[in-house]
Amino acid sequence: MPRLGIIGWPVAHSRSPSMFSAAFDACGLTDWTYQRLPLAPELFEEAVRALGASGFAGANVTIPHKQAALAIADRASEAAASIGAANTLTFNSDGSIEAQNTDAPGLIAALDRSPAGMSALVLGAGGSARAAVWALLGAGAAAVSVWNRTPERAASLAGELGARAVSEPIEADLLVNCTSVGLQRSASELAALNQLRLSADLLGRYPYVVDLVYSDHPTPLLSVASAHGCRIVDGLDVLVAQGALSFEAWTGLPAPLDAMRRGAREEGAGGEHVHEEGVGGEEARAQGLSEGDVRE
Ligand code: NAP
Repeated sequence: MPRLGIIGWPVAHSRSPSMFSAAFDACGLTDWTYQRLPLAPELFEEAVRALGASGFAGANVTIPHKQAALAIADRASEAAASIGAANTLTFNSDGSIEAQNTDAPGLIAALDRSPAGMSALVLGAGGSARAAVWALLGAGAAAVSVWNRTPERAASLAGELGARAVSEPIEADLLVNCTSVGLQRSASELAALNQLRLSADLLGRYPYVVDLVYSDHPTPLLSVASAHGCRIVDGLDVLVAQGALSFEAWTGLPAPLDAMRRGAREEGAGGEHVHEEGVGGEEARAQGLSEGDVRE
């Protein structure tokens, strides 16, 4: 019975278990399981080393463990090594661990047109922004700019990966929000735009807007962008695209994208697909998250 899971802290509200459960059903992988694995940072290394011996074929990794996941691996894909973070671990039968980063190719796969030749503005300078900048440059974006609330972090990321840091959001063909702004369900559209130094007018001038944040409802950024006629991609589309690549790496089968989309979206609508393991809601509260917060 191959076991998979998602390691995070917190991980209570991840959509990955319902998404993978739907994928297993669609592919007839009736003995595969996928569970939440809440792990505090101090337990990460010991627990992850034990997973392979406990029947786990692999695991996805989310906040705050993506750098530790790369560090623990015996081998890493070029994307994981260049980005400095991994979100997919594979446990081999000889005890070795392989690390991949599917966030970067997942972002490109979620776009319905190639970013080659486009100018892009990435908002944020955390882990997902690093993956986005690396992915966009690798996919041939003509110029990638980075804006971040803390400018020093934007300068450092841009310098390292070959992008350009900007002190204010500038116009571009593609806008990718890699900040956590919009994660709090209570955030108003105006407050979210202010936090990102955007006006509704400027946002409306980006032809293509991607928001990595996802929730049950359109995020403030995507509400305004879609009201202005921008083409939009939401965080669940990106989640499904990166999950599909992990699924294919572990099973060797083509990912059932429609089933994964339904699985990821139904959980938000109240669907229940997986048995809850770990400390669940208590864990989220201990980490200061409300019930509506979702992270990947
Ligand atoms: P991270 O490493 O913690 O980075 C957070 C970023 O958000 C930093 O750039 C931070 O700026 C910025 N930020 C936080 N609060 C802000 C505020 N009030 N105003 C302006 N900027 C603010 O997180 P991450 O791993 O990159 O993830 C970022 C978001 O993407 C999360 O919401 C996560 O759920 C989502 N995500 C989604 C997927 C998916 O598959 N859809 C995958 C990965 C991540 P400072 O540097 O100034 O603190």
